[in-house]
Parts: sequence; C-alpha cells; structure tokens
Amino acid sequence: MAKYTGADCRLCRREGCKLYLKGDKCYSDKCAVVKRPTAPGQHGTSRKKPTGYSIQLREKQKTKRIYGLCEKQFRGYYDMAEKMRGITGDNMLVLLERRLDNVVFRLGLGLSRAHARQIVNHGHITVNGSRVNIPSYLVKAGDIIAVKENKVDKTLFADIKAGKTENLPSWLEFDNATLSGKVLELPTREGLDIAVEEHLIVELYSK
Ligand code: SF4
Repeated sequence: MAKYTGADCRLCRREGCKLYLKGDKCYSDKCAVVKRPTAPGQHGTSRKKPTGYSIQLREKQKTKRIYGLCEKQFRGYYDMAEKMRGITGDNMLVLLERRLDNVVFRLGLGLSRAHARQIVNHGHITVNGSRVNIPSYLVKAGDIIAVKENKVDKTLFADIKAGKTENLPSWLEFDNATLSGKVLELPTREGLDIAVEEHLIVELYSK
C-alpha cells in the first residue's frame, strides 16, 4: 500500500486549509498554513481558475488526508456508504468518524489522528475490555474505549490524566481518571464539526 512519506504541512498548504495533522503545532504560530498560505512547489503562487472536477478532487483529497487514508481505503468507505440506507455522503463521514483511531483522537488520547493510530497499533487501547490494535475497527454505540490497564501510568498519558479533555463531541464521554471513554450514540452528520462538502466527493465518485 502506497504511503505518503513527505511533509504533512505540505498537504495542508496544498488544500489551502488546516488539516490538523501535527498536534500542538497546528494551534501555534508555527503552522505552515499561517506562515506560508500558498500551495507548495514552484507554481504554488500561480493562480488557475478551478474547474468543477478540480473542486471535487480537492474536496476528496482533503477529506482523505484529514483521516490519513490512502485512496483504496477511502474509496472502500464510499462503497460501503453507498450500500447503506440514507445519504451516501453523510454515511461516509459517519463511517470515517467511527474508526477507532479517530475515536481515540476525539477522546483526546492522541495529539493527532496519526498519533492516535500509532497508539492503537502499539496495542495501548482496549474496546469493551479486549485489546484492539486495528485502527480501522468501527466502534458501535455503547462501546467502552480505554487505555490498557498496564499502560495507564505511562508518561504518554500523564498529561491527559492531569488535564481535561476539550472539544469532546457530544456522542462521546470520557473519564480522565480512568482514561476510558464511552460511545454514547453513533455520530450524525449534524454533530460532526468537520468542514467538508461531502456531496462533492459523491459527485466525483459517482461519475
Ligand atoms: Fe497543517 Fe498542522 Fe502543519 Fe498547520 S501545523 S500546516 S495545520 S499539519
């Protein structure tokens, strides 16, 4: 599977907005989008009139990059969403939000989605008491997501234990003392604070 190994900040500059890929740096003055708000590369400053296709493509790339997925994985979520009842774009975003690495990030256990994915991969997370090291695991309503008991005191989680989780979505709850969270209900499109025009992605893929 092809993996992007370049600088994360280039991806944000390409999309012309913050994708929050680097944790604390994204909220500081050091953010590359703040310092150099142009597309990367030699022709980054040249202005071209966007076409309908390029607008759709950029929206798809942006969403894919926010969740740190490759094309094949991302397309898989679209295909799954298309087979579900309801609006395909909404279904797709909800499926992406239900990924375990995203939930770990939303609970504040990871600095970014990439960091959360690493935490899951390294076996630090349990779901309903069993270790799950698959970042694409889809959480369900009622699932308890927790840091594995013998990892709770790790320095990695010390700050989280001491502080409080900010910006916790309404469909999740989190207990800092035990480093565990619960999926209260499945997210809905209205409850997602993600600036994506998903209908553009559906238009692109359904061509
Ligand atoms: Fe994107 Fe974060 Fe880099 Fe800013 S610091 S450009 S938001 S990855």
